[in-house]
Amino acid sequence: MKSAILKNGKIKIVEMEKPILTEKGAIIKVLTCGLCGSDIVKIKDAAKNPDSKVILGHEVVGKIVEINTEIIGNSYYNDNAMPFKAGDIVCLGHHYPCNSCDMCKNGNHSMCKTFKAVNISPAGFSEYIYVSEGHLKNTVFKVPKELDIENVTFVEPFACCIRAIRRAGYDFCGKNDMTKNEKNEFVKCTENPRHKALVIGLGSIGLLMSLGLKAFNIEAFGYDINPKRQDLAAKYGVKFDQNLRYDTIFMTSGSHSAIDTALEYIKDGGKIVVFSSVQGDFGYRNNDIYYKELTILGSYSPAPVDLALSFELIKQGWIDLTGVSTNYALDNLAEAVNDTMLNKIFKACIKV
Ligand SMILES: [Zn+2]
Ligand SMILES: [Zn+2]
Repeated sequence: MKSAILKNGKIKIVEMEKPILTEKGAIIKVLTCGLCGSDIVKIKDAAKNPDSKVILGHEVVGKIVEINTEIIGNSYYNDNAMPFKAGDIVCLGHHYPCNSCDMCKNGNHSMCKTFKAVNISPAGFSEYIYVSEGHLKNTVFKVPKELDIENVTFVEPFACCIRAIRRAGYDFCGKNDMTKNEKNEFVKCTENPRHKALVIGLGSIGLLMSLGLKAFNIEAFGYDINPKRQDLAAKYGVKFDQNLRYDTIFMTSGSHSAIDTALEYIKDGGKIVVFSSVQGDFGYRNNDIYYKELTILGSYSPAPVDLALSFELIKQGWIDLTGVSTNYALDNLAEAVNDTMLNKIFKACIKV
């Protein structure tokens, strides 16, 4: 089968053995895999550090072709889930926590050692992948036939946003996120204060963050220096108002100058959620944090419960970014990466 690897910092599509089931789990035929900003960071870092082992691609939608265990997936919001079987279309997250260590017990699932160690194999940008029983139990969801699989590739990145929004102190529907109507659908949260939030960086993840904030009943605004991104965000009702100061700011930009923008627009007493890496050593100034009583916090990667809410909201149509991605064949992954780096496209989706 074909799979993407990095060799001397360059993307290569190579032939390798298809994964087989030696342990419990499933083999999944990849259908689509989104190209994530973190893949781009890994590719840039690998150019400097060519021996590092890099797994490219994780925003996967695929079809189970083989399974050797009877497991009901993550059913946090779905009491009627059935065990997975061959033929199921699924989406997934690539890391799952142990749920029992100190980090997990404190709600810091993405800091769990197991979480950091496990991944899909060999990589999302492959024709087939192996996922373990742990994945199936925690991070895999059966996708109903009527859903657009391109939109479903946003389940993992949107789950990252949900975690960030929750880290900022917002619940989806107030207590336990469980406000539902008679059709078992989520109803719009009204318990969060009508806070004003600003998302700095309006790439695909920034747009997802803005739409997530709206779903949480937060007034979402977005800032980007790129006019094309401003225009696209405006189509989704996300604009910038330079006269406002914001209760929370979400940093999805990889540019260090965004830090100054955040410090300019944050309200005294506000929260800044750091959601992306920046190159070099840049930080928030001690005296800004102190005199403005700011809270600066990080949000890295989603817990199973965040994936579950992300999947439910996408399934119920709260988040619809159908048509914003540009499709590439697996053989053209390098071109997709290049076009993304040059800001020629908004989001790349690899069709396998
Ligand atoms: Zn991602
Ligand atoms: Zn743990």
